[in-house]
Amino acid sequence: MKLAAAITRLRELETTMHAYQHAMDLLYYDGVTTAPAAAFPGRGETLGTLSELSYRLFTSRKVGELLSFLEGEQANLDDQINREVRKLRESYDRQACIPEEEFSLFQELLNESEAVWRQAKADNQYDLFEPYLNRVVEYSVRFAKYYDDSLPAYHVLLQEYEKGTSMESLDRFFADLRTEIVPLVQQVLTSSVQIDDSFLYQTFPVAQQRELADYVLDVLGVDRSRCALGETEHPFTLHFNKDDVRITTHYEENNLVSSLYSVLHEAGHALYELSTAESLRGTCLAEGTSMGIHESQSRFWENIIGRSLPFIRLIYPKIQSLFPRQMAGVSAEQFYRAVNKSVPSLIRTESDELTYSLHIMVRYELEKRLVEGNLHTKDLPAAWNRMYQEYLGIDVPDDARGVLQDSHWSGGNLGYFPSYALGSAYSAQMLFYMEKDLAVWDCVSRGELLPIWSWLEERIYRFGSALEPGEVLENCCGGRLDSSYYVKYLKKKYGELYHLQE
Ligand code: ZN
Repeated sequence: MKLAAAITRLRELETTMHAYQHAMDLLYYDGVTTAPAAAFPGRGETLGTLSELSYRLFTSRKVGELLSFLEGEQANLDDQINREVRKLRESYDRQACIPEEEFSLFQELLNESEAVWRQAKADNQYDLFEPYLNRVVEYSVRFAKYYDDSLPAYHVLLQEYEKGTSMESLDRFFADLRTEIVPLVQQVLTSSVQIDDSFLYQTFPVAQQRELADYVLDVLGVDRSRCALGETEHPFTLHFNKDDVRITTHYEENNLVSSLYSVLHEAGHALYELSTAESLRGTCLAEGTSMGIHESQSRFWENIIGRSLPFIRLIYPKIQSLFPRQMAGVSAEQFYRAVNKSVPSLIRTESDELTYSLHIMVRYELEKRLVEGNLHTKDLPAAWNRMYQEYLGIDVPDDARGVLQDSHWSGGNLGYFPSYALGSAYSAQMLFYMEKDLAVWDCVSRGELLPIWSWLEERIYRFGSALEPGEVLENCCGGRLDSSYYVKYLKKKYGELYHLQE
């Protein structure tokens, strides 16, 4: 094979894989936005066909040979192509090690398990879902072993979401959170400070909420000619390419902040995808590098910026003009305190900035034990409820609001959860380093967010997945995760909000 021909084939492979992905994502997007309910089976068939075609194409012997050839030519290839090959090699090894028949059986299982989970959650019947979860765990462990038998299965699973993260570092990270955040939550709970947030739960017409969403996207500098905002039950971000990013939100008439903060969250994901370098276009590197780094961006804009006093002061005049009656007599400072009120609660996606990582800690401990074989799926609800009592101090009344609340495990995404807590911790660490270079809060007060975006673009966004998570951290915040930045950030913020003594 000639080198030039191999590079052409590499490009063709990336273009075709991207086309399959584009089509599948668009079908998904259509399915959760405008498609009628009866479209479900037909769409499922098309998705099944497309995913099988792309799986076959990618795991073929020819692709393996192409990658081996290019790996042998490393010295003659530029850095970007070498990084493309490295990324493709990893996905190839991960997928090609699974026998095709087992792969399709697993896809079928996931389809069923998703549907059963939905039913089980609606009926509050964990027993219905338990056998499916058990098989999802079995398959995941088996696939991890196919990939690398010498490593713990959970370690292998983690790499898919946050490459370079080890169980040891996560154990340390969550142990730090347990030592520092659990007592902080207790202090907040017993503090004499009462925060009134009742004014956030009046009637807020959706038309005005939409206007507010458009406004905050403008403030953040999201290019709306390349980023559409849609409405779905559960908010998410999808990117087809850097000129077509889709974010969604869900408006609740009796809750002003649910949509406001989900828009800020998804806008953070969008800014990342909108800002990858032009040179990466069309390659497998034109996307965020990992779940954890992605989540650091959504949480940076949602919490660190979006829930700060300077940002609230900046957008509050708009909120007051949209909702003059509801916000009559409420100051920006009161609004700031209300959106930061912390109360241990049952549901992860509705939890506040302080308690959020404890919800993740529970899931990390449990999924690790499931994968390691130290916990049976039959005993999962009891273990879940015990940990909610221990870490958050609350009783779980039923499994629908307990172990059945998230879709991740039914979708086969074991190893995903830690990325959420890592993202929060990374974002606090990034703020610390950003403040060394920039007068962050002066920028926010003036409504000039461009320097903040530029700082992130220069160190994170433009690299897409050309850099691995560890390399991104190297670029922007000292190289490795250090939970003390996150702990300090939370202690300072909540110490002030709840007048806690050091
Ligand atoms: Zn997110």
